Amino acid sequence: MSSNHERIGLFRHRRLRSSVSAYIDNELGPDETAEVRDHLRVCPGCAAIEAQLRRIVSSLKRTSTRHYDELVVARVTEQWSSREG
Ligand SMILES: [Zn+2]
Repeated sequence: MSSNHERIGLFRHRRLRSSVSAYIDNELGPDETAEVRDHLRVCPGCAAIEAQLRRIVSSLKRTSTRHYDELVVARVTEQWSSREG
């Protein structure tokens, strides 16, 4: 049980968590970008995902393996999704 997530809004949390990788790639519209940014400020779980994804993306961008990059990001997101509820 996570009272923290209840306060943030678990539904919103789950929806936004899947948008974090798109947020990092600047693929979201202005409204969604603002929503994710606000959520990252109040949700340590999603902020941790963002930090991890940014590390992976920046290290892979250096080797310019864009396709592989997306696979790894998807796997990390999946991993986090199965970790909690
Ligand atoms: Zn969250």
